Amino acid sequence: MIVGADQITVGKTENIDKVKEILDNVIKILNKVTRERDNITPSTRPRPQLSPYALYKHLPRTNCRECGEMTCLAFATGLIQERYEMAQCPALQEPSREQERQVIQKLLDDYFGGQLPAGEELVL
Ligand code: SF4
Repeated sequence: MIVGADQITVGKTENIDKVKEILDNVIKILNKVTRERDNITPSTRPRPQLSPYALYKHLPRTNCRECGEMTCLAFATGLIQERYEMAQCPALQEPSREQERQVIQKLLDDYFGGQLPAGEELVL
């Protein structure tokens, strides 16, 4: 879904009822922002985004496909999009990969918590 200045674009979907529900919520939020805009202080800080490569370099990088993705990079993208959880990568669950799991979890926690991941690449 892309929210533009004068339109909302929705990609291909198989669940039109869910899209209508989401659009209703987006419209409610936009109307609320419009009503309260005089009391809102805009933020000029760029919204941080976590690069899939920042996660990828801590994944096993074997492209074994056991997670259901063709590549570890695609899995990393899915982690950012909340389509996957780390537990879905069996190789990452090995005891020897505890440090990698902790790094990935910290990056995801910082990202979803709205903080800039320290020392990691950002896509702006
Ligand atoms: S299961 Fe893990 S190692 Fe295998 S492709 Fe997926 S992310 Fe990579």
